[in-house]
Amino acid sequence: MAQKLLVLGGGFGGLYAARELRKRFGDEAEIQLISEENYFVFQPLLPEVAAGAITSMHAVTSLRELLAGVRLRKATIHSVDFDRQVVTVFQGVQRRPTEIEYDHLVIAMGSRIDLSRVPGLEDHALKMKTLEDARRMRAHIIERLEHADVTFLPEVKREALTFVVVGAGFSGIECIGEMKELIDRSLKYYPNIDPSEIRVIAVEFAPRALNELPESLAAYAVKQLEKRGVEVMFNTGVASVTGRRLVTSTGEVIPTRTIVATIGNAPSPVILDMDLELTHGRVAVDRTMQAKGRENVWSLGDCALIPLKDDAKERDDFAPPTAQFAVREASQIAQNIQAAVQGKPLKPFKYKSRGALASLGARRGVAEVFGIKVSGYPAWLLWRMYYLSFMPGFDTKLRVFLNWLLDSIRPRSVVALRAPEKEGARYVHYAAGDPVFEKGNRSDGFYTVVSGRFEVSYQDETTGETVTREVGPGGHFGERMIMGESTRFGTVRALTDGTALVLGQEEFTKLSSTFEALGSYLEDHFNRVYHIDWHPGAAKPSGEPAEKSPTRH
Ligand SMILES: Cc1cc2nc3c(=O)[nH]c(=O)nc-3n(C[C@H](O)[C@H](O)[C@H](O)COP(=O)(O)OP(=O)(O)OC[C@H]3O[C@@H](n4cnc5c(N)ncnc54)[C@H](O)[C@@H]3O)c2cc1C
Repeated sequence: MAQKLLVLGGGFGGLYAARELRKRFGDEAEIQLISEENYFVFQPLLPEVAAGAITSMHAVTSLRELLAGVRLRKATIHSVDFDRQVVTVFQGVQRRPTEIEYDHLVIAMGSRIDLSRVPGLEDHALKMKTLEDARRMRAHIIERLEHADVTFLPEVKREALTFVVVGAGFSGIECIGEMKELIDRSLKYYPNIDPSEIRVIAVEFAPRALNELPESLAAYAVKQLEKRGVEVMFNTGVASVTGRRLVTSTGEVIPTRTIVATIGNAPSPVILDMDLELTHGRVAVDRTMQAKGRENVWSLGDCALIPLKDDAKERDDFAPPTAQFAVREASQIAQNIQAAVQGKPLKPFKYKSRGALASLGARRGVAEVFGIKVSGYPAWLLWRMYYLSFMPGFDTKLRVFLNWLLDSIRPRSVVALRAPEKEGARYVHYAAGDPVFEKGNRSDGFYTVVSGRFEVSYQDETTGETVTREVGPGGHFGERMIMGESTRFGTVRALTDGTALVLGQEEFTKLSSTFEALGSYLEDHFNRVYHIDWHPGAAKPSGEPAEKSPTRH
C-alpha cells in the first residue's frame, strides 16, 4: 500500500521537504501538506514589502502552483496523536475537527513571536513575521506621516515621527533600513514635515549588530545607517512600552507611536502541546532529523533543534533557524524518509553555511560569501541576485524583479489601504433548529443571547448524565473557553429564531481577567453549574482532562 507522508507547515522547511519527497517517491506515496495559508511567504522579502518596494501579493507564491503532485490541505493544525498516527486539523470555516492519518510525519511549523516578557510590547508593537505584519507596518508608517502632516500639537507630531525598531539582528537591521528609505522617499508628499523632525531608532540589547556577520561588516552596516540619520542604541533593552512611549532598560523615555519588534522568537503552542521530547520548546531530533523516541516522526526548520555534531552542546553546534539551512535540511529529511521506508541506513544532516547577506536599504548592503567580505552597492546587488535565484517559482521571480525595476525608476506610493481589523464582537443570527456548535467543535467565542431561546446540552463530568438547559435573552453559553478548552464541551442549538452576541476568545479572556465582577461571576457560575473549582487567572481547573472528541472524515 502507498505510504502516507504528511508534512505539517508550508514554509521553507515544509515546502521544500514535500517537493523533495514527491521527487523521490513519485506516485508510490500519498504526499500531503497542511498549511494554514495557501501561499508560501518568502520571509527575507518582508521588510521590502513593509517598505512598499514590493507589493504584498507579489512577494508570495501559491502553494498549489509550487506543489505539483502533492495534496495541499489549507487547515489549522490542532494536535497530533502519535500513538494512533493521526493529526487533528480544523479546515475552512468548519468548526468540526478532521483527522488525517500518516505513516511518516514531517513537522515544519516554524516559530512564532512572543513579546509578553516586556510589559506592553505584545499589545503595542508591530511584528515582522507574516505577510499581514508587513502590510500592517507599511500602512502604519504612512498613517503616522499623514497625521504628523496635519496635527497642530507638537508633542503628537514628535510621537508620530519617531519610529523605533527593537533588535539589530538581520531582520531588525533590514527593517530599519527599509523603513528609513520608505520615510525618506515619501517626505516629498508631506510639506509640513521637515526631515529634521524624523527620528528612526534601533534599540539593541547586545553590544553589536548582525551577530552572524564579522564585526567589521556589522560596524559598516551601523555606520551606513547612521549616515542616513538612524540612531543605533547598543547595550539597551526595552523595559516597558505604552501606546505613546518606549522606556529603555537604561531609563530613557522615547515618545513614539511606532515600535517594531524583531525579537522574541518562541515555539509554536501546538508544538509545546505535543507528546514529544522538546528542548527549549523545539522538537528534539537526532542528526538524521528523526524525533527522539518516534521512528516515523521527523522535524526540521525553525521548530526543530538539529545537532550538527554528536556531542552538540553549544549554540553553534546546532543548525541555525534560517531559510538557507531549512532548505538543505528538507533535502536530507526526504532522503532519510525514503531510506527509512526502504529499510536502508539514515544519514546525518551536514551543511556548512556559505555565508550571510543583509540589505541595508538605499542600495547598500553587507555580505560574507565563502569567507569573502563585500559591502556597499555590490553587496546590495548580490543580496538581490541571491534572493531572486533562491525564490521558488518563475512567476514570483518575475513579479519581484518587475517590482524592483519599477521601484528604481518611480517614486514610492504612499497610498494606505485600510483593511478592516478583526471584529472583537459580532452579532450572529439563527433560525429555529440551527446548530450553534457541537461537542468537539473548535471553541470560537463566548455567546450572550440577545433574542430567542437556545438549548445547551452536555454530559455532567461527575454523574455522567446528559444535562440540558435552556438559555434566553441575557443568558450565555460557551464560557468554558476561558479555561483554555480549545474544543467545545457541549452542544448548542437554536430553539427559536434568535440572535447572539459573540465575543472572540482573546477579548473574552482579557475582559474576564480584568473586569473583577465578571471574573467573580464566572467563578461562581463554574462552581454552581459545572461543579468546577475555577478561579480568574487560572487556565484549566486542576485534574480536568483536555476534551477531545474529533470526528473522522
Ligand atoms: C523578516 C525575516 C527575515 C528573514 N531573513 C532571512 C534571510 O535573509 N536569510 C535566511 O536564511 N533566513 C531568513 N529568515 C529566517 C527564515 O525565514 C526562517 O528560518 C524560515 O522561514 C524557517 O522555515 P520553517 O519552514 O521552519 O518556518 P516558516 O517558514 O515560518 O513556516 C512555518 C509554516 O508552518 C505553518 N504553520 C504554523 N503553525 C501552523 C498551524 N497551527 N496550522 C497550520 N499551519 C501552521 C505556517 O503557516 C508556515 O507555513 C528571515 C525571517 C524573517 C521573519
